[in-house]
Amino acid sequence: MQTEAESDVCARCAAVSGTCCTLEPGSEEYCFPVSASERAAMELAGAKARHFYRQANTSAFVDNLCRLFPDTPEAVHALFPVGGFHDRVAITPEGACALLGSQGCTLPRQARPLYCRIYPFWFKAGRQLYFEFHRCQAQLEAGGGAGLMRRLGMTNEGVRHTYQELCRAWNLPEST
Ligand code: SF4
Ligand code: SF4
Repeated sequence: MQTEAESDVCARCAAVSGTCCTLEPGSEEYCFPVSASERAAMELAGAKARHFYRQANTSAFVDNLCRLFPDTPEAVHALFPVGGFHDRVAITPEGACALLGSQGCTLPRQARPLYCRIYPFWFKAGRQLYFEFHRCQAQLEAGGGAGLMRRLGMTNEGVRHTYQELCRAWNLPEST
């Protein structure tokens, strides 16, 4: 997933590691959901119906989202009732996002899902954190923290703004 500003580290990552745009086959249900407004922006930028998948809200998916939004489990359950469905990006049998190209995401940055744009950063209880990922080229090259953010061309302000936008896309309370 490429980030706030186009960063060549993500393109290098695509060449060597498969990036955060791939997952272990079999874990597709955990893929972050795509909201209606995000899908509309993606389609305006060229994404087709084949790039999306209608995913059932499994208990494991809902539990995982509750871990990401630990302050608002009621809102998460209301948005994603078990047995319902949500959109996510389509994933190839090898585990790659259908929108991933040889040099990273094929969508322009502003049209990518918000979760892709904020990754690997996140907020919990108002505190910024980042998800450690052993294949993240930026994490391998940077020492972490501010070095990681710089390497990805991101800023604290931009990360916070993207998180707030993501919460608004799902009508979830913001914990920043
Ligand atoms: S939409 Fe783009 S950035 Fe997001 S997972 Fe797919 S290829 Fe990666
Ligand atoms: S894993 Fe890290 S370096 Fe690789 S594409 Fe994702 S954010 Fe960029």
